[in-house]
Amino acid sequence: MMLTEAAKQMPEQISEVIVLDPNENCPATQVGAKQILGKFSDKNAIVELSLQSDLITYEIESGNTEILESIKGNITINPSPKTLRIIQDKYMQKKFLRENGIPVTDFVAISSIEELKQKIDSFGYPTLLKQRRDAYDGRGNFRIENSAHISEGYSKFSGRNVMLEKHVNFLCEISVIAARNTEGEIEVYPAVENIHKENILRMTIAPARISKQVSEEAEQLAKKVMGAFHGAGVFGIEMFVTKDEKILVNEIAPRVHNSGHHTLQSSITSQFEQHLRAILGLDLGRTDLLHRTVMCNILGPKGLGGKCKSVNITQNDGVYVKWYQKSEIKPMRKMGHFNVVDVNDNMDIQHLISKADEINDSITFNMNQ
Ligand code: ATP
Ligand code: MG
Repeated sequence: MMLTEAAKQMPEQISEVIVLDPNENCPATQVGAKQILGKFSDKNAIVELSLQSDLITYEIESGNTEILESIKGNITINPSPKTLRIIQDKYMQKKFLRENGIPVTDFVAISSIEELKQKIDSFGYPTLLKQRRDAYDGRGNFRIENSAHISEGYSKFSGRNVMLEKHVNFLCEISVIAARNTEGEIEVYPAVENIHKENILRMTIAPARISKQVSEEAEQLAKKVMGAFHGAGVFGIEMFVTKDEKILVNEIAPRVHNSGHHTLQSSITSQFEQHLRAILGLDLGRTDLLHRTVMCNILGPKGLGGKCKSVNITQNDGVYVKWYQKSEIKPMRKMGHFNVVDVNDNMDIQHLISKADEINDSITFNMNQ
């Protein structure tokens, strides 16, 4: 949706946006995109999309890389399907990062419960069992707290490839949004801090509450990550800051990222415009943070489901709401987000966080009768 909105601001370069999406009247169509209805893995739909387009990009990792690889001779696809293929498998991704000298936590592929039991001994508790593919918002993660948890965790992912990861006792989670254009130019946004609850991103604090030295290190590390992967576009690079202020990369998203939504108001160039500039081979835009900003996701509340019209949210000075217009609300579904921006540059970050918390607590939804 937000990529489509950014594209509509670039009529000289982009005449039309066509989205492939499995949901009828998906958010992008509400802001002017044409839709091909189909699964992200649907071969015919992807081929149809390629016939109607000059350039393909994506904002979700679920594309079928085999089909994308097979059509890439006829159309430009960015980031490259090769990059997508590595990233789609969390184990392959971590292995690739480690081979490229990027610091990550210890991890190992698991193919049997015996192997799991054996490896847990060296990783200790708690530890994370992760589904290797098709996982997001923490849905593919299982935290094993003690030996009694092992078989529950293993059976949760039965029939799927899994990996085990050493738990990182982190000080905070941060991310860096980075971009590379087709000319090889790289730009990174300042590191932001991410607060997750129940594995879902709730809040992003821009800038992160870390020292200048750590944030510079994070930005350097992001550039190193960009050097390792092929293809143009925006990448979201998730990291942990450990208690001794070391940085480990958690994972990479080869696309615009939830923790970059603050850039819609906090920066001259939003991550969405930046992504389009990158894949079109334009000069990248400025990435400095103009105003401190806190972003909160608007999630479907527990126990609420059904058709939803709109959201009620306090919209006072410096509050910007983005409602994704998804017709159906589900518990923990990302329905939109809001940014609380320090427009007059006179609030400290704690004040912004409190303001965001208050707004979040007062949200209600208008359901269709
Ligand atoms: P998302 O879609 O939000 O990126 P995901 O499903 O891809 O999530 P991860 O990023 O692997 O899953 O993990 C989700 C969250 O779980 C992390 O942001 C972090 O809070 C926690 N987590 C994951 N791996 C570890 C680890 N090794 N040690 C400690 N916490 C972890
Ligand atoms: Mg993640």
